[in-house]
Amino acid sequence: MRYFILVLSFISFSLFSWAQNHDKCSHKVSFQKTSLGDSLHVISYHIYIDSINWETDNLYARCELEVQSKVNNLVQIPLELMDLVVSEVKIDNVITEDFTQNNLRLNINLDAPLQENQSVNLSITYSGEPYNESWGGFYIDNQYAYNLGVGFEADPHNLGKAWFPCVDDFRDRAIYDITARVEDPLKAVAGGILQEVIDNGDGTHSYHWHLEENIPTYLASVAIGDYAIYEDTYEGINGDIPIQIYVRPYKIDIVEPTFTHLKNTLTAFETSWGAYPFERVGYVGTSIGAMEHATNIAYPSFAIDGGLSYEYLYTHELSHMWFGDKVTCASAEDMWLNEGWATYCQLFYEKAIYGEIPYKNTMRHHLREVLRTTHFTDGGYLALYGIPHNLTYGSTVYDKGATVVESLRGYLGDEVFFDAIKAYLNNYAYHHASSENMRDFLSNHTGVDMTDFFDAYVFTPGFSQFSVDSVSHISGNDYAIYMHQRIKGKETFANSNIIEVTLMDQQWNTHSVRIYLFG
Ligand SMILES: [Zn+2]
Ligand SMILES: [Zn+2]
Repeated sequence: MRYFILVLSFISFSLFSWAQNHDKCSHKVSFQKTSLGDSLHVISYHIYIDSINWETDNLYARCELEVQSKVNNLVQIPLELMDLVVSEVKIDNVITEDFTQNNLRLNINLDAPLQENQSVNLSITYSGEPYNESWGGFYIDNQYAYNLGVGFEADPHNLGKAWFPCVDDFRDRAIYDITARVEDPLKAVAGGILQEVIDNGDGTHSYHWHLEENIPTYLASVAIGDYAIYEDTYEGINGDIPIQIYVRPYKIDIVEPTFTHLKNTLTAFETSWGAYPFERVGYVGTSIGAMEHATNIAYPSFAIDGGLSYEYLYTHELSHMWFGDKVTCASAEDMWLNEGWATYCQLFYEKAIYGEIPYKNTMRHHLREVLRTTHFTDGGYLALYGIPHNLTYGSTVYDKGATVVESLRGYLGDEVFFDAIKAYLNNYAYHHASSENMRDFLSNHTGVDMTDFFDAYVFTPGFSQFSVDSVSHISGNDYAIYMHQRIKGKETFANSNIIEVTLMDQQWNTHSVRIYLFG
């Protein structure tokens, strides 16, 4: 039989809210910070690690930068460098004494001012014991050395400056070469593809790596140590991509059982988010992690355990190649664009690998935990955007962020959602994007005005809950569905809501309708 249903939706807002204690604190976020990136763009970095003294934990290095002025009459090049002492500066191959170092700042004075778009080549030699904190910085430990590109505590979080002089923010993107000279039998692995290994004839080899795509400083990386390499090939939608996983030698036999579903996850992510955006899939085992350095993910050794229990972690980091590395959050306040999406991917991969039902169970469990605990963990109900510095890497950004992505998928529907997100990632490819950029791009691309969705889910805190209050028969096949919106941790109701409601007829056949609830 044919069955038609006409849904008339009436809205009855409940003024009852789940909890009385709305979070009313406001967070002062400064958007006026002057940045080195306002006057300067670094086109390329070539970082040469000359040696590491394993006794004193000192790093000896040189960095070649091609620096471009964004303004007229630039008389001084300001760079950031942390805890490392500069011994020599060359401007276009000529040594200059005219530079100063003060705290984090390295200022290099120019003989002739640079005009807008003019560039200059710098060579900076430096050494010292690099900065690190409990999570982030540059670590030299027991014949292993590696960096983690952000610090949870550092303000700003970016820690490129812990190992090379740079414009250290989320926006300035450059091409990276890294050449590390290491004693035999140590190896060095960095972002991109290994170009050459030079035998220096003195018991050392130099490993030269080059990454083809531009990235911000916090995604550049190096790891040095006694490593064994697990190699495989992934047949990507745009061709073969090498997989290389560097681990401590005693771990080599358990790499394969640990990364059992890596290739299937790559396929799932390529299907959802578009072609893998870089030329290598890489992980390197480190004592602390995990960090999504482009093509060279610093991955904690304990998670390479021969089992499947850390799949969520390597899938999370892998998804950052799209969310974070291909398109980077414009500021720390937009971090949910990196971490909310990566947390979503660490749940969403289950749909492809284990099926729809396990995925739904995982997401429901996740949502329940967010509703129960995130406002305690983060000390209140916070909006995804404009998060305070100490909670950049907190539960709101990661865990609530993932639930908002799922809501966005439901809001747009799968067909529109995946098409629009792929288009968004391509539009902002190898660039940064803000929450407003995502909102406006999605509005333009889909024709669905995303203003109310972003206002409710991204720019204001708390949760909306929708329930069917009652259904009444009008006449024939016309029914009226009365719905409630209840809010928690919010002060205003969400507008322009799209809710899927499934109805059942007398034969237990289900009929789903999408109901538009305007505030
Ligand atoms: Zn608060
Ligand atoms: Zn992450």
